[in-house]
Amino acid sequence: MDFSSKLLEQAVDEMSQLPGIGKRTALRLVLHLLKQPKEQTEQLAGALQNLRQNIKLCKNCFNISDTELCEICANPSRVSEIVCVVEDIRDVMAIENTGQYRGHYHVLGGKISPMDGIGPSQLSIKPLIEKVSAGKIEEIIFALSSTLEGDTTNFYIYKQLEGTGIKTSTIARGISVGDELEYADEVTLGRSITNRIPFENSMKS
Ligand SMILES: [Zn+2]
Repeated sequence: MDFSSKLLEQAVDEMSQLPGIGKRTALRLVLHLLKQPKEQTEQLAGALQNLRQNIKLCKNCFNISDTELCEICANPSRVSEIVCVVEDIRDVMAIENTGQYRGHYHVLGGKISPMDGIGPSQLSIKPLIEKVSAGKIEEIIFALSSTLEGDTTNFYIYKQLEGTGIKTSTIARGISVGDELEYADEVTLGRSITNRIPFENSMKS
């Protein structure tokens, strides 16, 4: 792409770093911003900067949060003894939208994927095991995607929990989960959490 302006080129280059945004789309977005009042771009830039500077990870569940303890962990009416293990905040949002779950979450921040160089130590697995070892949790619900990476991660955590006597379950398979968790319809997702099955059973199938 040949640009008559270095400033434009730079903005397009930055924008096209985003996933799913090619150079053409980036150019369209940048030109759109240029047509809008200046304040709109300032608000966008400000919101992103503010997000990066002030966002926290909940110290209990590692969910993205504005405060040290996220709203879910800070809510005394939530059941802290039941913990649903998910990949990221999108899964938390999807499950929250069902209105069927009153427990806590544990956000791993990804899945074990040797291909992408992601090992257990890069995920928040250790704090989860520590919470279980401290006797604060009664049940772990695995809600990762049924992909190879999701299964590997589930199994790794399951092995780590061996001997703790903790109850482990998984949300019913056969529905869209994991990468598609956020798109699964609320009724189906809600039902699969309510009708979760023992983790051991999911391994046999
Ligand atoms: Zn939290």
